Amino acid sequence: MAPKLPIYLDHAATTRTDPRVVEAMMPYFTEVFGNPGSRNHSFGWAAEDGVDKAREQVAALIGADPKEVVFTSGATESNNLAIKGAAMMYAKKPAGETGRGHIITAMHEHKAVLDPCKRLQKEGFDVTYLEPGKDGLITRDMVEAAMREDTILVSIMWANNEIGTINEIPEIGALCHDRGAIFHTDATQWVGKMPTDVKTDNIDLMSFSGHKLYGPKGVGALFVRRRRPRVRLTALQEGGGQERGLRSGTLNVTGIVGLGKACEICAQEMDAERERLFKLRRKLEDKVTGALSVTQINGHPDKRLAHLTNISFGFVEGESLMMATKEIAMSSGSACTSASLEPSYVLKSLGVGDDLAHSSLRISLGRWTTEEEVEYTADKIIEAVKKLRDLSPLYDMHNEGIDITKIVWQAH
Ligand code: PMP
Repeated sequence: MAPKLPIYLDHAATTRTDPRVVEAMMPYFTEVFGNPGSRNHSFGWAAEDGVDKAREQVAALIGADPKEVVFTSGATESNNLAIKGAAMMYAKKPAGETGRGHIITAMHEHKAVLDPCKRLQKEGFDVTYLEPGKDGLITRDMVEAAMREDTILVSIMWANNEIGTINEIPEIGALCHDRGAIFHTDATQWVGKMPTDVKTDNIDLMSFSGHKLYGPKGVGALFVRRRRPRVRLTALQEGGGQERGLRSGTLNVTGIVGLGKACEICAQEMDAERERLFKLRRKLEDKVTGALSVTQINGHPDKRLAHLTNISFGFVEGESLMMATKEIAMSSGSACTSASLEPSYVLKSLGVGDDLAHSSLRISLGRWTTEEEVEYTADKIIEAVKKLRDLSPLYDMHNEGIDITKIVWQAH
């Protein structure tokens, strides 16, 4: 049976809010509208009860104490608070000086980590950007080799948002604890999909976001460890002192209630969901790579998220491929930045050439993805790639055994 179009296979970008989450949120727009900061009447208490329950639901999903959960507007804010807040708190020298401390991160982190790090460089901190392996992984040994006496903070994402690769987080966390550095992980693509225990996984600070785990947009959380070690942060925003002074501003009660419910559902359903999506992803990959030559799955073959794949197709132009499959929502390996079409910096950091980076698709499955949708998508991609290659003189040359990388092109 043909699936209903368009098909949504971009769950790494955002997810639909689960209807059960919407239902839990509804009363907080109307009857329970109080400000949880209003300590002197029942409207405030009722709102606070909703927030408290959500804090417990979020904490339960990640093995934290509810007091260790700070609500934010999403992973971008959580990353900023974690990275800048820790750097400022643990700086070895005052503002205005250089040599304030060393930070380790990776080249293929999300911009919401890279840009705060760049800002800190301007403010006197040294930052090392680790190059991932060709498999996309950052290992404990890579971090250890970069460690210095003055390393104050390490920020390595749990799972990459473009290729889904999974880094050695518990091992890196243990290393940081040995060396007395604070360890932050951007776990936006990981939390809600994979079992997480911040205590045994040795995490000090962890960012995640509602809209990646079937919760609402504009709400997220930062886990801040309270014991062994007790992590302290400099707040970036001052005001009413909410969230133990770390994030002033009236709480987004509806969003927080939604995030809590979304976390509760993930805790109950993620194992079955992961298994189901893994089978679908395998089917998609097997079908596409079985039918098409010169394709490559980017990132480590096994150490990656179950629901996400990133495939490069030689001899097709990425934008044409997107156009030819436009009834399916996927992401391409090109980022439209103002006037130019830049190949993905994530794929480039793995050593994927510009051509293959441009011709890659990130396909991410989700809670409501069906087998029919996956079958349809695989067929559409195969058909589109074959058609585009029929038009490609380079593909003809490749088939004739000519190594096109050795051709010297003449300008006339
Ligand atoms: N980090 C990662 C790894 C992400 O994938 C995203 C979302 N694309 C973010 C941070 C930013 O999250 P938010 O939209 O909640 O600010």
